[in-house]
Amino acid sequence: MPEKPQRLTVNEIYTSIQGESSWAGLRCVFVRLTACDLRCTYCDTEYAFYEGKKRLLQEVIDEVLAIDCPLVELTGGEPLLQKNALPLMTALCDAGRTVLIETSGAHDISKIDARVHRIMDLKTPGSGECARNLYSNIEHLTLGDEVKFVIGSREDYEWSREQVEKFSLCTRCRTVLFSPIFGRIQPVEIVDWILEDKLDVRFQLQMHKFIWEPMERGV
Ligand code: SF4
Repeated sequence: MPEKPQRLTVNEIYTSIQGESSWAGLRCVFVRLTACDLRCTYCDTEYAFYEGKKRLLQEVIDEVLAIDCPLVELTGGEPLLQKNALPLMTALCDAGRTVLIETSGAHDISKIDARVHRIMDLKTPGSGECARNLYSNIEHLTLGDEVKFVIGSREDYEWSREQVEKFSLCTRCRTVLFSPIFGRIQPVEIVDWILEDKLDVRFQLQMHKFIWEPMERGV
């Protein structure tokens, strides 16, 4: 029996400026995979829940490698819902690309190629999906990885601060990101709290929402 071709359902592939994380500001190819099993209250990529095209894994690899850009990010939706996201990341690493993955934190990150930088959310209470955090992921985090908290209130901030302390996240990974929910909280509030509490986290804004219209796709 010939082997079944490996496929991925892809929402979009595009080049832009990385808008978040410690990689913000750099040119980056985004591979947005279709589907997510969470429904965060602030989700800005609902179009990736269902829209997408089934494509051959090799075709996706070829398309990304044809773009002259050293940085690639897998995002979604939730990229880890598709098992072929794993060989895609490995192939891109093998080809010398720096690979990032944005994941909700609700799925096992341990099978991801060790060369990949994992940017993992810990979902705050305000997301409505806090119960989905897979805490066993924390022991797999390395100094190449980042943990992101998306914060919409003082309650979210205090919860995030507790997690940072409880799991020593600032020393466990490359950086801890505190990011405001766009339009729900004034960024300066979070900045003031971080300064007051002397937290060694990295405050961030979603840069792409200031460069382009906040709901613009493909940027
Ligand atoms: S995990 Fe990401 S893609 Fe999924 S609902 Fe939450 S914000 Fe949206």
